[in-house]
Amino acid sequence: MPVLMIGVKCSRFRAKAAHFSGHLPTAKCTFSGVVSVDLKRFQDSGVPLVECPDCARTRSLTPHKGVLRFPSHDQRKIQTPNTMPRWVRGQTGWDPVGAERPTELSTG
Ligand SMILES: [Zn+2]
Repeated sequence: MPVLMIGVKCSRFRAKAAHFSGHLPTAKCTFSGVVSVDLKRFQDSGVPLVECPDCARTRSLTPHKGVLRFPSHDQRKIQTPNTMPRWVRGQTGWDPVGAERPTELSTG
């Protein structure tokens, strides 16, 4: 991509430029591998999305041979928090968050 070499005097631009000082290529996230969630809990929750504890990227996972695996992935760049139902690794283990439990449904 061509870089425009223009004299920029705007102070707003300087603030932005400082923010982007890193300019790194897409980095691989260090988190990947087995997600230690009880498969029954995982399937009962009805939440297939799992959030990477390192970069907050979400992946829809399916158990294979009784094991959930989070694939290797590029680090998520977007800093906005996830809002969809997903599994998140907490202090004590993985837990589904944001999921509505359909216990109060009244079916005809
Ligand atoms: Zn990650």
